[in-house]
Amino acid sequence: MDKKMIYIVEDEENIRELVAYTLQNTGFDARGFVGGRDFFDAVRERAPDLALLDIMLPGDDGLAVLTKLRATPGAEKTPVMLLTARGSEYDKVLGFNTGADDYLTKPFGMMELVARVKNLLRRARDTAGSGEYKLGGLSVSVPRHRVAVFGETVTLTLKEFGLLECLLRNAGVVMTRDGLLSDVWGYDFEGETRTVDTHILTLRAKLGRCGTLIQTVRGVGYKIGDGK
Ligand code: CA
Repeated sequence: MDKKMIYIVEDEENIRELVAYTLQNTGFDARGFVGGRDFFDAVRERAPDLALLDIMLPGDDGLAVLTKLRATPGAEKTPVMLLTARGSEYDKVLGFNTGADDYLTKPFGMMELVARVKNLLRRARDTAGSGEYKLGGLSVSVPRHRVAVFGETVTLTLKEFGLLECLLRNAGVVMTRDGLLSDVWGYDFEGETRTVDTHILTLRAKLGRCGTLIQTVRGVGYKIGDGK
């Protein structure tokens, strides 16, 4: 099977090289670029299977690169993960509006990066982002905002639904409490991570027999499923 090709646009050399090195050691082809110009030269030769774009770049920033990528024939649907400094909610909102598929906040660990890359590639392959999930007796439709356990509809609060959706979107990946807080409550939420535990508790209870699908990973956070 052909290796997946991943492009990284990042002006900081040590991050760029560490990410490329890590991906190459995980079974991917990876190429690093300092800025948008070199990146697009390469995209025109071969569109990548996934692109990691740093937002803060000299010249065109990552969002401008993303916008241009979405208008590049053959690369309109390339999964894109944005990389940026912690706490910039503006970037996050703008990034999703610009068409980013995922978002990783610096500093990030290489294991999390690889897990998210794999997840994004899996999503791109499987459902093309349909937002329909089935796991054991649990079925979730994000567009219809519906959750059913063995066919029985379950009513969740908005935050419970957000948590479940976030876990399913990252199936098989351990999500930290901080990660869940920022994803579901937003970066500006000054909450305690205990808030996450409380909501997981009620979510599990409402999911009944499917509650055990949500696993606690001691000292780290939560995950659902084992991925595929
Ligand atoms: Ca940068």
